[in-house]
Amino acid sequence: MEIHAKLLDFDGRPVVLSIARDITDRKRLEQALMREATTDPLTGIRNRRQFFVDAEREMGRATRYGRPLTVLMLDLDRFKRINDRFGHHAGDAVLLGCVQACQQSLRDTDILGRLGGEEFAAVLLETDLDDALAAAERLRRAVEEMAVPFGGQTLRCTVSIGMALRGPGDAALDDILRRADSALYSAKEAGRNRVMLARATNGGMEDQNRRWSSGGVPRNG
Ligand code: GH3
Ligand code: MG
Ligand code: MG
Repeated sequence: MEIHAKLLDFDGRPVVLSIARDITDRKRLEQALMREATTDPLTGIRNRRQFFVDAEREMGRATRYGRPLTVLMLDLDRFKRINDRFGHHAGDAVLLGCVQACQQSLRDTDILGRLGGEEFAAVLLETDLDDALAAAERLRRAVEEMAVPFGGQTLRCTVSIGMALRGPGDAALDDILRRADSALYSAKEAGRNRVMLARATNGGMEDQNRRWSSGGVPRNG
């Protein structure tokens, strides 16, 4: 409801004149427009623009209060083959499945967005290195184990993940994104379906594949 009220003088007596209007339709329209402007129509997660709005806000907060922040860059592996073999709709179904796997592996407060095509990014908040690595690995495995039914077939996919943590020298979100992006590139180079960690200090990369697949003790870092 939208209510306007005005105090009037009616023959020396105070009177309130009010008009109430049902604005349900207008509010619904506003919400629909907002949704359209901020979300990806296929998967329902943040679109590129909204991802950056939310990620920048959290970067500001993390920098101000000295809190941990992790960026994951994700790119589906050999995704073009799925489209080529099964068609674009099959590819869409896999994209949707991957997003659901991501959502199940992340916290509600983490920021997940579709940057474009089969590329996604996530910002993890209040998470130390080990927890962030565990989340990234959970996510990688969830996609690996995902089986998407489509037209009598079962579609499968894997994801490569580049990961970077906010360091003291990071003035902008872009600095972390760039490291995560080159870690993603390294993950592809190293054979895909793996999490690669970018080391802030020396620009080195650390392949997380062996660490997890061997079930070994996490290396010190
Ligand atoms: P790589 O492991 O190197 O990442 O290989 P790739 O095949 O995933 O990489 P490439 O970038 O060559 O292919 C990405 C493909 O994603 C090409 C494009 O047709 C497809 N794609 C992008 N957006 C969509 C979409 O919304 N739906 C579907 N079905 N396919 C999409
Ligand atoms: Mg790509
Ligand atoms: Mg790809």
